[in-house]
Amino acid sequence: MALPTLEVSRYELNVPSTGEKIDYRPYLVKEEKQLMMALETKDQNQMLKVLGEIVEVCTFNKLSSQNMTIFDLEYIFVKLRGKSVGDTSEIGMKCSHCEHENKIKIDFNAIEVPVDLNDNMLLDISDTIKVKLRYPKMKNMLDIMAGGHNEVDAIFYTIAGHIETIFMGDDTYHADEYKSQELLEFLESFNSEQFSKIREKVNNAPTVRMPLNFTCEECGKENDLVVTGTENFFA
Ligand SMILES: [Zn+2]
Repeated sequence: MALPTLEVSRYELNVPSTGEKIDYRPYLVKEEKQLMMALETKDQNQMLKVLGEIVEVCTFNKLSSQNMTIFDLEYIFVKLRGKSVGDTSEIGMKCSHCEHENKIKIDFNAIEVPVDLNDNMLLDISDTIKVKLRYPKMKNMLDIMAGGHNEVDAIFYTIAGHIETIFMGDDTYHADEYKSQELLEFLESFNSEQFSKIREKVNNAPTVRMPLNFTCEECGKENDLVVTGTENFFA
């Protein structure tokens, strides 16, 4: 007689960048094992690939992780992690008044990725050139990581990776038809003011965040913080 199969719960979430509603399930021990093995390699590239695979199977293969933005991927992963290992976790947060480290319980349900779906992402770079930006997808980030660039170059490649289309007069240039080296050279031809327009947009790109309010146990003062970056949510 075959062993019984366990039933898996299904939940619903909205994909931050599109608003699309999709079903997901928690990750299981087999997937947790994959994750642990990837963590052990300490290879970011490998970690991202495994995160992508887990997000794909846990959303019933409705999404392609390669074509997903990094913030969508992180958001979905934190969601399904919450359902797998528990919705709450304790993290250490320093009080902004007295530096005392408080142990704060965080609830993964409070996680959010604010995305302005109406932002057209079009920037006037000069009188004749406009650039339309996009949020890089996982495949773009994997390409950049595989390039073996130094830290500064990696930042510039990442910014160049945000370019979707360049408009000049009647001509349209689709970034996907050009090598990343060509896009980098285009970016490097900007003056500081033009470059800062793009950089500002990139720095303000959506990210997984969680608002956090707590009263410090040491000084009694209120803290109103926002935790960003997934490393806080993987603990
Ligand atoms: Zn304090």
